Amino acid sequence: MTVLANTFDRQWQDCEQDYLAAVKRVGASGWYILGQEVSAFEAALADWCKVPHVIGVANGMDALEIAFRVSGISAGDKVLTTPLSAFATALSILRTGAVPVYCDVDAAGLLDPEAAEHAFEEHPDIRAIAPVHLYGQLSDMDALQALADRHGARVFEDAAQAIGARRGDVGVASGGRMASLSFYPTKNLGVIGDGGALLMHDPDEAEIARSLRNYGQAERYVHTRPGLNSRLDELHAATLTDAFLPRLNGWLDVRRKIARAYLDGITNAAVTPLPCADIAGSGWHLFPVLVAPERRDAFMDFLKSNDVAPGLHYPVLMPDQRAVTDHATPLVVGELTQAHRFAQSEVSLPIHPYLRDDEVAKVIDAVNGWTG
Ligand SMILES: *Cc1c(COP(=O)(O)O)cnc(C)c1O
Repeated sequence: MTVLANTFDRQWQDCEQDYLAAVKRVGASGWYILGQEVSAFEAALADWCKVPHVIGVANGMDALEIAFRVSGISAGDKVLTTPLSAFATALSILRTGAVPVYCDVDAAGLLDPEAAEHAFEEHPDIRAIAPVHLYGQLSDMDALQALADRHGARVFEDAAQAIGARRGDVGVASGGRMASLSFYPTKNLGVIGDGGALLMHDPDEAEIARSLRNYGQAERYVHTRPGLNSRLDELHAATLTDAFLPRLNGWLDVRRKIARAYLDGITNAAVTPLPCADIAGSGWHLFPVLVAPERRDAFMDFLKSNDVAPGLHYPVLMPDQRAVTDHATPLVVGELTQAHRFAQSEVSLPIHPYLRDDEVAKVIDAVNGWTG
């Protein structure tokens, strides 16, 4: 049996009863869009995340786009981001008509504040920074916020991978910032389908976000903004409240336990986990390791032949995607040396809440058994 990146059948066995009870409740209620289930989930998540406003939307990409649009990011505005992320990050910027500016990441794969500083020297008109909390780790928000403050820019956190991440006192959407979450099934808090949310502090901005997710409607038949159709379903909201959110703390504990086992157990000098100052600080959405770029294919083949399914996050940088390069020359600051290193060297090991101890041991044995 192959150790997989996810085993949703085990999750279903665990959650089935709570899930089906939620489905029955919504079905019987006769109310399927923007009702009390969405409101109840938003309140529960706001409590969990310690933010005043949560707006449930259709997916993580829309959450980020709505965040930009709420604060007036529009055609031609420059938004600084990382080149190393799910393409949805760049796409959410492009969909507002704004122009992504890419600069390098640090040794952990996160937007590098020093590279970001250079980006502002080259492009003083950057209006926003969109760091991505990649792999579950929180970006250096103190440094990035200080930089943004010096330049009158705003910061939007792409926290699709990072619910539960912390750096000391700083968590997702701390410091009054907006953050976006995704409930894509593989994420730390997933649904059986698509979903997402915006974490917000300002009540007026929260109101605009609520309007934007629902055709830009201010009241019935009155549309004050060209909005989206990006609502979280009552069904998904109910299953999040009943089946998934109550398990999130336990799931994060398991992810951290597996991360510790990997960090302690992996002794192969040819396989390098990322630097980690605080195991409890990451949400451990993924467990990335770095190998020599010319040996990556061999490493992945070796894992597969030892019944371990590897992943890649991400082999192609966002500014190198054809959806970008076919239309314009991307604005890139500096050499993206670290980002390219990740694109060529990173391999993700299985880490998820239903991974068993024997499977963790099997992954460690496979990694340590590779001769490099
Ligand atoms: C998954 C993900 C997204 C997109 O979320 P969807 O819900 O799939 O739209 C955006 N950014 C990052 C970093 C992600 O991992």
